[in-house]
Amino acid sequence: AFFEADEWAGLADWETELAPHYQTANRMLGVSENPKFWPADQILLDIAKELGQEGTFEPTPVSIYFGEPGKTVPDPYFAGEGPERTGCIHCGGCMVGCRHNAKNSLDKNYLYFAEKWGAEVQPEANAVDIRPLYGKRPDNARYEVVYERTTDWIFKRRKSIWARNVVVSAGVLGTIELLLKCRDETKSLPKLSRQIGVRVRSNSEALMGVTAYDDAVDYSEGVAISSHFWIDEVTSVEPVRYSPGSSFMRSLTLPLIKMEGSFGKRLVELIMAGIRNPLDLLSVRILPGWAQKNTVILVMQTVENRMHLKQGRSIWTLFRKGLVSERDKRLPIPAVIDVGRRVVDRFAEKARGAPWSGISDVLLNTPATAHILGGCSIGEDETQGVVDINHEVFNYPGLYVADGSVISANLGVNPSLTITAMTERAMSCIPAAAEIEEYPPLLPPAVHMPTVDLRRQERRRRIALFGLFAIPITLIGVFIFLRKT
Ligand SMILES: Cc1cc2nc3c(=O)[nH]c(=O)nc-3n(C[C@H](O)[C@H](O)[C@H](O)COP(=O)(O)OP(=O)(O)OC[C@H]3O[C@@H](n4cnc5c(N)ncnc54)[C@H](O)[C@@H]3O)c2cc1C
Ligand code: SF4
Repeated sequence: AFFEADEWAGLADWETELAPHYQTANRMLGVSENPKFWPADQILLDIAKELGQEGTFEPTPVSIYFGEPGKTVPDPYFAGEGPERTGCIHCGGCMVGCRHNAKNSLDKNYLYFAEKWGAEVQPEANAVDIRPLYGKRPDNARYEVVYERTTDWIFKRRKSIWARNVVVSAGVLGTIELLLKCRDETKSLPKLSRQIGVRVRSNSEALMGVTAYDDAVDYSEGVAISSHFWIDEVTSVEPVRYSPGSSFMRSLTLPLIKMEGSFGKRLVELIMAGIRNPLDLLSVRILPGWAQKNTVILVMQTVENRMHLKQGRSIWTLFRKGLVSERDKRLPIPAVIDVGRRVVDRFAEKARGAPWSGISDVLLNTPATAHILGGCSIGEDETQGVVDINHEVFNYPGLYVADGSVISANLGVNPSLTITAMTERAMSCIPAAAEIEEYPPLLPPAVHMPTVDLRRQERRRRIALFGLFAIPITLIGVFIFLRKT
């Protein structure tokens, strides 16, 4: 369904186009099959059998080195050119970062080689503006990227860098926020498509789970996501785990209730459920050993539904300008996936535990997702999408987007491999610098567009802040001085 999604199907034969790049992505990320099943996998397999879907049950492909557990070996992936790896010990900690050198995170492949071959990685740098450099320049530079230090507290130091090509890869939220800012706030890229932030997807995901009432079984062992199966043609399900001590997620959860009606009705229902069955509430929210007793159940769908992101103010942005979401009136994202919920309830019976979902799902009918996708879609022209089939931004040669924001449909499975494959393809379309004699310069817009100088804006902000503190202090000083004299 992904390759034939309406949004991009007519533009290329995507399955064929992407096939070699999936291979590269698999190689770069060191993908292999999870070799071991654990109690949560066994329960899911039993449920798959009950549903007649055991044929679709499989171990997950994961980016983890499964050598001898705990044994460190020279780079097993890139003919010894990469860093050492240590065999996975199945501790369940992948979600919070592998401390055992087994997970093939980007610092062990793409970033490792980028640095090794001369790229400079600037940590703590938040891009805040992209300014075109019009006309021919001796160094062929076409864009200035302005960035600030994320770790500065009030006065964020700003720097900039010039580049011939710029690849925006800030994830869905980062990319949409930056491009909307460049189009509508600083007005540095006024000709960006009006499609930015339109059709953002959640992988039609529902994050639910089950917390067992006792600690007879340890659900925290294994890699973070170890198996999956298809409940029906469009819905897949996976068990997800955290390692002991990692239980922050429980603070975002509540026991599953009927999930119908207004906030008030749901709140009453939740309180009544808590009185009727206090063990559910205690297990989900309070009792110790959550990670060992818990299984997150991740349900994803290939069906089409979406929302939109735009600049605005809300309680979630503390009334400052930021990204706010808007429901799609025709195809809203559902907070409840009934077939998924049935699997969760069955899992709870088998594991003898309490089923739960996210607070926003339970009380606000607002689904949460870990797989936000889209918002800078690939299109035929700027009225249909933000980038062309090679991920180059319409109206801005040399400016590219390569991340989850270009994904054109709900995948129904975890998205990292597809994001990597699409990025591989996009980068393979950009000729190497050595092959290019001259970069076509950017032509200034026919009509002069006034831009907002971020540095001047920052200077004004500092003066205002200084005034805010200095004026009252001076007035108090004058007042005290006058009283004394
Ligand atoms: C808890 C969790 C678990 C997940 N597990 C899986 C999984 O098991 N398998 C899977 O396939 N997917 C998983 N996903 C989804 C997957 O992580 C994302 O889909 C994927 O990382 C998105 O890749 P991306 O390149 O679009 O963005 P990201 O990976 O989010 O990278 C964007 C980067 O840009 C930086 N950035 C943002 N704004 C700016 C700016 N203005 N200037 C400079 N830098 C900026 C961000 O800090 C970030 O480092 C998980 C997601 C979550 C939240
Ligand atoms: S289970 Fe995950 S965190 Fe633990 S060693 Fe393996 S890759 Fe690392």
